[in-house]
Amino acid sequence: MIKTLQLPSRGISRRIVLLRSAGCAAGAAALLVPLKRAAAKMSQQSVAYQDSPKGDQQCSNCSLFQAPTNTCTIVDGNISPTGWCKYWAKKAG
Ligand code: SF4
Repeated sequence: MIKTLQLPSRGISRRIVLLRSAGCAAGAAALLVPLKRAAAKMSQQSVAYQDSPKGDQQCSNCSLFQAPTNTCTIVDGNISPTGWCKYWAKKAG
């Protein structure tokens, strides 16, 4: 004998469905933000970061360097303006 699943057709308003959906989306976003942050930057070791320039290439003339905070868009940690890594990319201008 096959039993069919009876779903309640009453009692769940559109508002409840929308609120639960919003709650799930907010919960998923809250879980994903730390993962995104953790995965966003590479370690200094993995990019062959060094505190000294490589020729005329250094972090201060790299497009990924963030001068006010001495950080890098893709590399984790404190970045020296005179540092360098294998992802150096010439700053425009
Ligand atoms: S050289 Fe490497 S560590 Fe320095 S700013 Fe550019 S990408 Fe970041």
